Amino acid sequence: MILIDGKKTAEEIRKEISVEAKRIFEKRGSRPHLAAILVGHDGGSETYVAHKVKDCQEVGFDSTLVRFEDNVSEDELLEKIRELNINPLIDGIIVQLPLPKHINEQKVIESIDFRKDVDGFHPVNVGRMVIGLPAYISATPQGIVELLKRYRITTAGKTCVVVGRSNIVGRPLSILLSMKGEPGDCTVIVCHSRTPNIEHFTLQADILVAALGKPKFIKANMVKQGAVVIDVGTTRVPEASAKNGWKLTGDVDFNEVASKCSYITPVPGGVGPMTRVGLLYNTLLAASKKIYQ
Ligand code: NAP
Repeated sequence: MILIDGKKTAEEIRKEISVEAKRIFEKRGSRPHLAAILVGHDGGSETYVAHKVKDCQEVGFDSTLVRFEDNVSEDELLEKIRELNINPLIDGIIVQLPLPKHINEQKVIESIDFRKDVDGFHPVNVGRMVIGLPAYISATPQGIVELLKRYRITTAGKTCVVVGRSNIVGRPLSILLSMKGEPGDCTVIVCHSRTPNIEHFTLQADILVAALGKPKFIKANMVKQGAVVIDVGTTRVPEASAKNGWKLTGDVDFNEVASKCSYITPVPGGVGPMTRVGLLYNTLLAASKKIYQ
């Protein structure tokens, strides 16, 4: 069994991004610049955005954090996005989700100029990805594909089972793995909460991706011998002995499953660090105008 080290791989990619960021600075006199909008004070969102700002600093990007209180109006938020859309100094824009209930998330996502949509959530980017055109690909599926590439795990002809069909993880990943070419050319099965006898499908997987948000859901009897197992889940499970009172737990019962796998990602230290680096990569693409002029 080989443990896929997402932390180490992400570190290598960060170094590559830093080199490119320097090149961009030399060429145009400004660093790649990410604007992040944070609404309210949710603990998880605060942490994620703080990481994104720190990640930018570490690779030599500029970042702007725009903060609003929970009671910000949808119009006010949209006005700020319009401002950032036309600001030539901003390469990428993200709005940390979830947003308060009185704000229409989809409307906010669609208000971001798709050329600056480095989260890859805008329908233009999703649509272009689906038909194989260059696009910003959302960070987690992109990170998983990159891990498969860098660990030289061949995907062509493999059966891949993705458990979860969310717009940010399961669905885009299932599309990427079914695309023509490597990594891709998989036969993909997508499972979700309405899939009966889920183990019937997971047992067929050469590559099994668990992205459902149910801690330790995937047990040894659901996994084929020699499978590649990618664990996307990150649930904070209460644990009295932990410093902060919780432990980040994946969707795979690692202790049971690991010995059956050819490769497996741990939680933490697997997909998570690759997700962080995916946003940096997209911001770099935006700054270098590699996808859109
Ligand atoms: P989500 O939007 O809640 O989607 C969960 C998906 O899993 C849905 O499609 C749901 O089916 C399916 N599902 C739920 N219960 C199921 C069950 N018992 N059997 C089969 N399918 C089931 O979640 P998400 O945003 O994709 O995130 C999934 C997990 O990944 C979460 O733990 C999240 O924290 C984590 N995550 C980690 C990273 C990272 O960087 N490591 C990034 C993003 C997300 P329905 O469609 O039928 O409801």
